[in-house]
Amino acid sequence: MGQAGTTTGQWVPSDDGHRWWFDSGSVALDFAYSGALGDGWEMLHEPSDLAHWLNGRFPGVDGTVTDRDLIDAKALRAAIARLAIAASSNERAATDDVDVVNLFAATPDIPPSLPGGGRQAGRARAHTGQALSAMAREAVELFGSESLPRIRECAADDCAMVFYDDSRSNNRRWCSMQRCGNRAKVRAHRARTP
Ligand SMILES: [Zn+2]
Repeated sequence: MGQAGTTTGQWVPSDDGHRWWFDSGSVALDFAYSGALGDGWEMLHEPSDLAHWLNGRFPGVDGTVTDRDLIDAKALRAAIARLAIAASSNERAATDDVDVVNLFAATPDIPPSLPGGGRQAGRARAHTGQALSAMAREAVELFGSESLPRIRECAADDCAMVFYDDSRSNNRRWCSMQRCGNRAKVRAHRARTP
């Protein structure tokens, strides 16, 4: 689901104070897990945190983030988070959240460009607003009807992490194999062992 050149996944905090790698399968969902979703953590305290977060996903962003950008980003993030919860629980998306995503998606995103040109045009660095637009366009794809059945909650009873299953076989069950997948395997093994 990532745009060309973007990768998904990030380190997120866990209860025991360690970090674990959660690949939500989508840049937009990863963004929701920078704070709006998850166990109450927040990665975006300062505008510079947002600059750092975006820089890893959208190369070419100029890194200038204002307080206003951070507020905008969190509004978009909250909408994406609620849409993700609605999608994973087969509920209808809230009109307001759809409107927020559509508003951001309607603004200019980061234009594609070929390397090797001689002109300055097209080489300008993209602004934060353009990165947010690119994120919103990902969200439009993500929450479009074709992808919806692939947005699921982790199969572990005590885990509410939501991911987009981008596997060909569409059979991803766990937020992370290391975290929930292996625990479930161990439990199943114990249940079979007399
Ligand atoms: Zn899980």
